[in-house]
Amino acid sequence: MIMLEKIWKNLREKGDAPAYLCETQQLSYQALGEWAGRLCRNLQKRFSPGIPILLYGHKQPVMAAAFLACAFGGFPFVPVDSSTPKERLRAILASARPQGLLAAEPLRAEKIPLLSPEVLEQICQGGEAVPLPFPARKMDELFYIMYTSGSTGAPKGVMVTCENLDSFVSWMTALFPQKPAVVVNQAAFSFDLSVADFWPALFWGAREYTLSRRTQRDYPALFSQLESSAGELMVLTPSFASLLLADQSFCAQRFPMLKTIFFCGETLLPKTAQMLLKRFPGLRILNAYGPTECTVAVTAAEIGEKEASAALLPVGNPKPGMEIRIENEGRLAEEGEEGEIVLVGDSVAAGYVGTELYATSFGMRNGKRSYCTGDLGWMENGVLYCKGRLDSQVKIHGYRVELQDVEKNLSALPSVAEVVVVSREDRNGRTVRLVGFVRLGDGQNQTKRQLQALLAQRLPEYMCPEIRFIQAFPLNENGKYDRKRLKEIADGKGDFAADPRNWE
Ligand code: AMP
Repeated sequence: MIMLEKIWKNLREKGDAPAYLCETQQLSYQALGEWAGRLCRNLQKRFSPGIPILLYGHKQPVMAAAFLACAFGGFPFVPVDSSTPKERLRAILASARPQGLLAAEPLRAEKIPLLSPEVLEQICQGGEAVPLPFPARKMDELFYIMYTSGSTGAPKGVMVTCENLDSFVSWMTALFPQKPAVVVNQAAFSFDLSVADFWPALFWGAREYTLSRRTQRDYPALFSQLESSAGELMVLTPSFASLLLADQSFCAQRFPMLKTIFFCGETLLPKTAQMLLKRFPGLRILNAYGPTECTVAVTAAEIGEKEASAALLPVGNPKPGMEIRIENEGRLAEEGEEGEIVLVGDSVAAGYVGTELYATSFGMRNGKRSYCTGDLGWMENGVLYCKGRLDSQVKIHGYRVELQDVEKNLSALPSVAEVVVVSREDRNGRTVRLVGFVRLGDGQNQTKRQLQALLAQRLPEYMCPEIRFIQAFPLNENGKYDRKRLKEIADGKGDFAADPRNWE
């Protein structure tokens, strides 16, 4: 695997150069290589290659060492952020069936061998140096499994191969004729946007500068860390950039080193791009597009002054090895005609864990793996535009949420009889929050707060909706839930059979 060979070389040759930073902790290339080497040897003694290992934690340096130890040792890894609620973690464990659990934060697990934070630290830092083995991965082996919201109510594990990732990193590298020296990471490692900073940074021999969850919630800390990072490339969701832009000091005077922002994960609004170009004259903005199922991103567009003045920003040309098809009822759409975006080629993952490839949106076209994205778009002169979704998937602060996933988890609560979840959008059409309309079962009298507490054990914070009790659901002419009407109600338009418990 080309990516791992280069990283192997960097870990041996870059010595004291900083490789990975999180809050006050820092690992040089040499230290990272040593930590990963010891851990890799230890894992090889305990576990069998080819079977997943779950990595639980946040952005502790030991997580970085664990990614490398798994990658070099031939273990597909499943990154799970420590903010994941217990029930969700249980569902991931049941699906991924890992042979071991590496926990960078305290965790209790039954029946699965677990390396606790103390043991992990001891392995990484203790004893003599053990060199990382030269990588010998086959291209069709699984590299990582990333879990994302699924419409069945259970998270879906996307199986990404060595070939998928090699192809992505080589494309990312081609996008940067001048390699950034410092790459800023925003996303949690359980979100595939982080793949766009972590692996390219180590491949380039750059510094991966991570922003922890705690830092991201503390504006002054966030800005001072960003300042001291001297980040040249930031990999962000557009929502996060909007948050930064809310502070006037997010500008070239304070962040003179910033040269490029790589966006992916949700629609980049022209307004956001315009404001960035104004605050950072000459900034390079890349608007990349792709689902987790196609290894982070498969297209990217440069957004300059001219592009930023359009009503909808392009998402760009496909990376090498990928073909974009716009399909309309089984046929290829004409130039400029809208249809479903179907991605074909070497970035398409190997499917979902435990599911037949053909039972899903994955498939084959012209002898190559394909994935029907559920996105509506069109092509114009070889450039892709993505207009929105064909289903009820939404993005909240860049996180993917299937409304049905929220509905299934809410209706699994014993006191709940009926549920419909709708999204609320801001003026720019961006989903800002979810509202769950709930009818409680007869004789049930749980409060909103109680329901919310129960739901928080099942779903991550960003997926938990505001709850509104309703006595009777409005139906449309087909006798189905009138979601349009419920959206209006959520927006405060008109009366509805509100339940008095809403005021509790
Ligand atoms: P995820 O797998 O969480 O990264 O979500 C993938 C989905 O995010 C895509 O199928 C799109 O709906 C949306 N998406 C990703 N990038 C963009 C973009 N640049 N513009 C618009 N939507 C995007």
